[in-house]
Order: sequence, then structure tokens, then C-alpha cells
Amino acid sequence: MKSDIRVCSEWESNHERPVYTLSPTCPECGAESVNSAPAPFDPNDAYGEYRRALYRRVR
Ligand SMILES: [Zn+2]
Repeated sequence: MKSDIRVCSEWESNHERPVYTLSPTCPECGAESVNSAPAPFDPNDAYGEYRRALYRRVR
């Protein structure tokens, strides 16, 4: 199933979590949004939790 949901392309640096939107730009930071199909973030990603934890540590 293909969705039209888009995600902020800069969410990893601008937000703590992916910002999903239907518009071509992020409603929160104004960055370009990208189709979430080839998303760098997968809600079902088994490594998501680990990656987010790592991300917080880096900050
Ligand atoms: Zn954003």
C-alpha cells in the first residue's frame, strides 16, 4: 500500500521524532518533506528504539 504521508526530511536534526505531514514542507520547521515510502524511519523498525536512544545520547 502506498501512502501520501510525507515526513520532514530534517526531522533527525530538527525534531525528536519524525514529523509527518501531507504538505510538501514540514509544518514545524519548514524543511522539505519527503515521501515516507522510502523513509529513513520505519515505525516497525526493530532498531528504531535503539537508534532513538543513541540519538539522544549523541545530543
Ligand atoms: Zn521539520
